[in-house]
Amino acid sequence: MTPARRLATSAARRGSRSASTSAAPKTREGPNFKTVIPHQAKGPANFLVTCEHAANGLPAEIAWGAADESRGLSTQHWAYDPGALDLAVELADALQAPLVHSLYSRLFVDVNRPVSSSTLARTLCDQQAVELNRDVQVSPQALEERIRRYYLPYHGEIERVAQETGAKTAISVHTFTPNYEGSVRDFEIGVLYSTSNQTLVEMMTDAFNASGFSAKVNEPWSGRHGFMFSVDCFTYNASPPGTRDAIMLEIRNDKCQDAAWRARFLEAMLPFLTKAEEKGSAPSPRL
Ligand SMILES: [Zn+2]
Repeated sequence: MTPARRLATSAARRGSRSASTSAAPKTREGPNFKTVIPHQAKGPANFLVTCEHAANGLPAEIAWGAADESRGLSTQHWAYDPGALDLAVELADALQAPLVHSLYSRLFVDVNRPVSSSTLARTLCDQQAVELNRDVQVSPQALEERIRRYYLPYHGEIERVAQETGAKTAISVHTFTPNYEGSVRDFEIGVLYSTSNQTLVEMMTDAFNASGFSAKVNEPWSGRHGFMFSVDCFTYNASPPGTRDAIMLEIRNDKCQDAAWRARFLEAMLPFLTKAEEKGSAPSPRL
């Protein structure tokens, strides 16, 4: 069944799943990750969906600082990507692809940044101190411990799932705020690439625009500047080299929190993935 057909039937499948005899998806939860693997995960196109900024939770032993909560950081885009997990779940369901997503806030530890990044555990949001990260600011050991316990397991899980399912193309799902520190973003969709085929990404972006969306390539930031770190790791870990691919979707968060908008978005996107599946290849230079 093509992804487009799966999308058309996914709502019905969700509704009848409890009465169905088909196997339930496998789930696995660990330190800062949750994985959902449908029983048909090893499809011809072998997609893997990831969502690095899915949630604003914290480990049980950690609490938001009072100042963080009074400023509302824990519920703003600073802490997570509103709407991203909903779209990631729906995309993975339509593709019958595995999904790996984070459980904890990007303010606690940002799994979409290299460990050397100054925003791995951000200390400032809009010029205001992040109380949550006061300890890692003064103690390198505290930051190392956070990386060991809550950062590395997320990346290890992506690679484990990639090897288990044979996934060849990662799709990382994120959302962005319409107004970032005074910078207004008037478009809806960013399609990001770093090492993927630029022409294909541009074709996908054109298709979104032809379907009535407002989409741009490598906006509101470029995938070539390290902002798709997590799925870049997925491609860099390919063996033999060059056999994996990745794109990142950045969706404006007001749109991505609208279920009807997400359904229209998937209807526009999935024909590309269907084309890749029919060719038995990833959406890459091989498409
Ligand atoms: Zn994000």
